Amino acid sequence: MSKVVIIGAGGVGGVVTHKCAQLPEVFSEIVLASRTEKKCKAIAAQLERPIKTAQVDADNVAELTTLLEQEKPDLVINVALPYQDLTIMDACLAAGVDYLDTANYEPLDTAKFEYKWQWAYQDKFKQAGLTALLGSGFDPGATNVFTAYIAKHYFDEIHELDIIDVNGGDHGYPFATNFNPEINIREVTAECRHWENDNFVTTPAMSKKASFTCPEQVGTYSIYRMYHEELESLTKHFPTLKRAQFWMSFGESYLKHLEVLGNVGMTGIEPIEFQGQQIVPIQFLKALLPDPSTLGPRTKGKTCIGVVVKGIKEGKEKIVYLYNIKDHQDCYQEVQSQAISYTTGVPAMIGAKMMLEGKWKQPGVWNIEQFDPDPFMEDMNKYGLPWKVVELDSFDLDG
Ligand code: NDP
Repeated sequence: MSKVVIIGAGGVGGVVTHKCAQLPEVFSEIVLASRTEKKCKAIAAQLERPIKTAQVDADNVAELTTLLEQEKPDLVINVALPYQDLTIMDACLAAGVDYLDTANYEPLDTAKFEYKWQWAYQDKFKQAGLTALLGSGFDPGATNVFTAYIAKHYFDEIHELDIIDVNGGDHGYPFATNFNPEINIREVTAECRHWENDNFVTTPAMSKKASFTCPEQVGTYSIYRMYHEELESLTKHFPTLKRAQFWMSFGESYLKHLEVLGNVGMTGIEPIEFQGQQIVPIQFLKALLPDPSTLGPRTKGKTCIGVVVKGIKEGKEKIVYLYNIKDHQDCYQEVQSQAISYTTGVPAMIGAKMMLEGKWKQPGVWNIEQFDPDPFMEDMNKYGLPWKVVELDSFDLDG
C-alpha cells in the first residue's frame, strides 16, 4: 500500500494516472499535481476511483517541498518537463522521498540531452538512503530494459545496438508533435550522435536515412538516425558495445514543415525581443500547435518500437530483435490517449511499481538498465505493452 505524487498533467501524466489508478493494491493513494490544477481535475474526472489533485510550480523547490511534506508520499513520479528534473530531485531530497522520471534534465537555454547533471546527485541520494530511477518511459525506458534483457538472456557479449522507434500513426494534421512540441523539436533538430568504436561520432541532423520493415504487417517506414539520451547511459553500462544507434520514423509532411519552421527561425530556443517582450520562438510555436494530449481520438495506426542487438553467444554471432507493437486507438479506448503518451506512461507506472514493491530499490541515482530487467518485462506483458523477441538471420540498415 503506497502513496505517489505524480507531477505533470500533460499527455504522459494522464496515462500514468490512469494506469496507477487501475492498480489500487500498489498505488493506494494518488495525488496528481501540476502547474495548472484544472488539467489535473480533468484527468481525475476520467477515473473510476477518487484521487487528490494539487497546484504546484515544480520549478520552485520550497513550494514543492511543502507539498511533499504535507502529502508524505513514498514516491514522486516526475512527468512534468525535463527542465524540472533537478528542482524535483532537490525537493525529493529535502522531503525524503524516492524519485522517478522519464527524460533527462535539460537546461532551458541549450539542448544537451546529457545525464551529467542528474548523475551528479548520486552521492546525495545515497547518503539520504533514497532511490532515484532515471528514464522510465519507453525510449528511454523500455528500450533500455529490452537491451538489458537481451544482454542477460541471449548473449555472452553484446556488440551492436540499433534502437528503432517507428510511429505508423496518423493524426490527420499537416503538422503536430506526439509529445511536448518543445522537447520533440529540440530532439529532432539536434545534431546526430551515435556510438562507434568507443566514441560518439557527430553527423548533421537527419543526414542518415534507412528503410525499415516492421513485423506483423505494421508497414515499411523511412527511419532517420538521431541522437537519443539512452545512448549515453547504455554505452556506459554495456561497455562491450562497439556501435549504438537510435532511429526514428518521420513522415514527409512532418520533415517538410520542420525544415521550413527551422529555416524561418521558429524552432529557435534563444529568446528574441518582440514588441517589447522577450519571446522564445519554439515556445510561441508550441502555443500554435495542437496539444499532444488532444491527438488521442484522431490518431489511427500503430507504433512499433524495439531494439536489435548483435553479439556473441558461445562463440557464435547472433542477432536478436525485441519489440512492442501498440495500436493508437486501443490506447485511446483504454485511457483516452494516443500511443506515444501510452507507451511512455505505462513504463513509468511499471518503474514506480518496481520501486514500491522493493524490487528496484537501492540508494543512489540509477538508469533503468542497471536494475534486473525480468520483473519489469513480466509487467510489460501484464499491463498493456506485450513484447516479442525473434532471432534474425541478417540485419543491415546501411544497405
Ligand atoms: P506535456 O507538455 O503534455 O505535459 C507536461 C506537463 O507538465 C503539463 O501539464 C505542464 O503544465 C506540466 N508542467 C510544466 N512545467 C511545470 C512546472 N514548472 N510545474 C508543474 N508542472 C509543470 O508533456 P508530455 O506529457 O508529452 O511529456 C511529459 C514528459 O515525458 C516530458 O519530460 C517528456 O520529455 C517525457 N517523455 C518521455 C518519453 C519517453 O519515452 N521516455 C516519450 C514522451 C515524453 P501546464 O499544463 O500548465 O503546461
